[in-house]
Amino acid sequence: MTTPWRPRDDYRNLKVYRTEAGPVEIDLSDNTSLFGSAPSALAEIAAFAHQRPARYPSAGTGPLREGLADWLGVRPENVVGGCGSNDVLDASMRALGEPGWRLAFPAPTFVMTPHFAAANSLRPIGVPVLADGAADVDGLLATGAELIYLASPNNPSGKAASADAIDRLLERAPRLVILDEAYVEFAGGSRVLDAVASGRAVVTRTFSKVWGLAGLRVGYAVGAPALIEEIEKARGPYKVNALAERASAAAVRHDRQWLAGVVRDVREAREELRGRLASIGYSSFGSDANFIAVSVPDAPGAAAALARGGIAVRAFPNAPVLGDLLRITVAPAPICDRLVAAFRELPR
Ligand SMILES: *Cc1c(COP(=O)(O)O)cnc(C)c1O
Repeated sequence: MTTPWRPRDDYRNLKVYRTEAGPVEIDLSDNTSLFGSAPSALAEIAAFAHQRPARYPSAGTGPLREGLADWLGVRPENVVGGCGSNDVLDASMRALGEPGWRLAFPAPTFVMTPHFAAANSLRPIGVPVLADGAADVDGLLATGAELIYLASPNNPSGKAASADAIDRLLERAPRLVILDEAYVEFAGGSRVLDAVASGRAVVTRTFSKVWGLAGLRVGYAVGAPALIEEIEKARGPYKVNALAERASAAAVRHDRQWLAGVVRDVREAREELRGRLASIGYSSFGSDANFIAVSVPDAPGAAAALARGGIAVRAFPNAPVLGDLLRITVAPAPICDRLVAAFRELPR
């Protein structure tokens, strides 16, 4: 049957995002936290039953914007929230990318980046990462692309770009830098202040990883006020729902010490896990995040074998530069014990 409509040409080959089917006992596939959720957020969620869901959340400067500004040392006009950092990434490209412009991104990186670029009529250009898994910042600049996306730490390697490289990017990028700091709490060295000062960079961050609040869907962008206003325009109103707004604002106000503890525990567990896997012959890339990328001969086969044992990980077959790898979320010790035991049973 022919239909009178069709999707836009520059977008029609995109696929709907789906994660692997079926419940698993231990899910180490998506880098959400296994170290608990921000306690003040949980308290707000419990209390929300007594609030009034008939009202819209705040449209402009809400408690979340103010809480984030206070935490990050910027002003509320430097911050805009969204339905996950996915939302602010998408809105940034829509607001600031002229249709047909190029968006350069590290290959491999966050899968949604080339998707959102194409969905917003940009032309995504992958630039192979460096051998250690960090983005090749000079390679990104060399494309001359109008928009440059950099995830630091990068996904799936976990490796952050060097401070010097990010300095060069902020200095030399022709128009706009989108700096994705979804995992920056684990690495330190956020560039939100530099982004605000430069006026040509937007930093995106999230409550989905270190805060343990992926289900609430809250992310945010930080940058110069004029840039943030354009992103807010493209995003549209009320993308952070009232429950998510209250809970994430409470977390950022009250749970900073808690966050520091999670970061410490994750880093310790990460290096321990890398060491144990290395001792049984599995090398991994150096990581500055809450996940590691483990080199394996056959990523889909290894992921399937681990899944049969109740452990989900993300397989990257033949990733550019990095080869076959499994991306695995760092977990507390009892789960890592089971993971290492399962690795011992993998066919070699
Ligand atoms: C997980 C992740 C995000 C987070 O997306 P949300 O929409 O905030 O859940 C963003 N960027 C990267 C690189 C990620 O890995």
